Amino acid sequence: MDNERIPTVLNDLVKQLAKLPGLGPKSAMRVAMTFLEWPEKATRKLGQSIFELRDRLCLCSRCFGLTQEDPCPICRDPQRTRSTLCLVPEWDSMLALDQGGFYRGQYLVLGGLLVPLEQKTGDKLHIEALLKRLAEGEVKELILALGATSDAETTTSWLLQILKERFPQVLVSRLAQGMPLGSEVKYMDRETLRQSLQFRQHL
Ligand SMILES: [Zn+2]
Repeated sequence: MDNERIPTVLNDLVKQLAKLPGLGPKSAMRVAMTFLEWPEKATRKLGQSIFELRDRLCLCSRCFGLTQEDPCPICRDPQRTRSTLCLVPEWDSMLALDQGGFYRGQYLVLGGLLVPLEQKTGDKLHIEALLKRLAEGEVKELILALGATSDAETTTSWLLQILKERFPQVLVSRLAQGMPLGSEVKYMDRETLRQSLQFRQHL
């Protein structure tokens, strides 16, 4: 939105807001106008929060999750079992799993997945940190919670190769794959059905 009639400060903000996911130039302008309608204190507080995001957040040196203190509260929690480590691709996956409250072990954020089509290799992933953590000897089970996409499959096979060679004593499991709750067989896609059959449970 490059209109000479729009004051530069407003135009600058709109341009930046338009880079946010889900916002185009028009909705960015709407958001900017909303800020102007807010009480001054609220707008300043929002600006301060954005500023502090970069200033006060860091990565936990143990799990690579976002935190204000290193190590993060999850890694510091003495009530959590140290023998189970859950590997997630991104921090928000860790957040989703932990919000359920049903998992009380440790986490490690891998930092992404292998994407063969984009030639994204393992160099940028926290694989060394994972191996170091397993070498500490506390972890008895590693749960792969990488998702059910083809990139997750590629990453899982790649990891399994390394893990079997380096840490054959560590039990490696993955989140169950198959039919979502409340679904019917006739509406399932081929791949979900294939996985549901492959990972079927004995009753
Ligand atoms: Zn942590």
